[in-house]
Amino acid sequence: PLKMNDLQDSLDTIFYSEKAYGRLNKYLSKNPPSRIFILVDTNTNEHCLTYFLSRLEDPSDIEVIEIDAGEEYKTLETCDGVWNAMSELDGDRKSLMINLGGGVVTDLGGFVASTFKRGIPFINIPTTLLAMVDASVGGKTGVDLGNLKNQVGVIVQPEMVLIDTNYLSTLPQPQMRSGLAEILKHGLIADEKYWKKLRAMNELKYSDLDDIIEKSVKIKANIVDRDPYERDERKTLNFGHTLGHAIESFCLSNPDRKILLHGEAIAIGMILEAYISAEEKDFPKEKLEDLNNFIKDIYGVDSFSSKEIKQIQKLLKYDKKNEYGRINFVLLEDIGLPVIDCEVDPDLIEKSFDYYLNS
Ligand code: NAD
Ligand code: ZN
Repeated sequence: PLKMNDLQDSLDTIFYSEKAYGRLNKYLSKNPPSRIFILVDTNTNEHCLTYFLSRLEDPSDIEVIEIDAGEEYKTLETCDGVWNAMSELDGDRKSLMINLGGGVVTDLGGFVASTFKRGIPFINIPTTLLAMVDASVGGKTGVDLGNLKNQVGVIVQPEMVLIDTNYLSTLPQPQMRSGLAEILKHGLIADEKYWKKLRAMNELKYSDLDDIIEKSVKIKANIVDRDPYERDERKTLNFGHTLGHAIESFCLSNPDRKILLHGEAIAIGMILEAYISAEEKDFPKEKLEDLNNFIKDIYGVDSFSSKEIKQIQKLLKYDKKNEYGRINFVLLEDIGLPVIDCEVDPDLIEKSFDYYLNS
């Protein structure tokens, strides 16, 4: 019978490229599910599904469930539609969910699977760079509430994660840059040598991509395996995200602003939080400058008025890392040396925006 593998190290369940489909086919023939549901969104239905099905030994008897593409559909209402579809298609506790898509599909599909009939197993097949190096790994699942991200969800590990960079060939460039931000974050929090390698790249070259993705996945999966429920070390993955999330929510809820992709907001957040790190934790000034220049070369600079900065600061209170009403930052003493649970003075947050806008 199928079982949830809570206790298995997540690194052992991540497989790459062609070999991954071999593992999947073996898994399916060893534990034949009563039903296989594939969750796609409109774009992965168009660009990824045919290729995926061609890799299955037995692509019959598969039910495809499609949701609308986009963060605005990462809602309980969409879950309701998927739960109903599964129910109407006679899904039972021996069914399997395969999430084929970006972070919206893996987050929502993981949540739907872990709650349907009190939980059925799921497999993630990430099709965006961001989902490959981040969202599909680590077991965080969930949906948004209004403009507030990831407010409802559970932590349940996928049975397997299959990473195949062929899917990236149809991914638009801004989405590639969005995923790159999480890769840069992995370098900054965990490994200065890796950061320097990334720093030396002129552009994301497809030839280097497989190695980079594997390295990033290893960094994330190792952290998650040591601290699956985010008691301490896993918090380091939130570097750049305290302010980054607030900026992302702000732009999403403000009709005058162009919507920032997750990674684009995190890129700004990493500059702001590196500046705060330099002020509070002696993060080396020359590394701050270098990081500032490098990230701005890739992502440009967005403008924020002082009124907007105040509004962004107000949004910090919804951050999911907050405990007992305290806003917690991850700061860096150096590259690869993160410090968790740091409190930051509001004045310093304003100064970090000054630095971002004017240097
Ligand atoms: P996404 O799923 O919305 O994908 C981005 C866009 O690319 C969508 O329009 C999608 O339809 C399209 N797309 C996907 N694959 C494609 C392909 N191969 N070719 C062409 N188009 C394709 O967003 P994302 O950036 O992948 O993920 C962002 C989400 O992930 C957010 O909701 C975020 O909260 C979540 N996330 C979760 C975790 C976690 O640990 N669970 C970590 C980071 C981010
Ligand atoms: Zn992120």
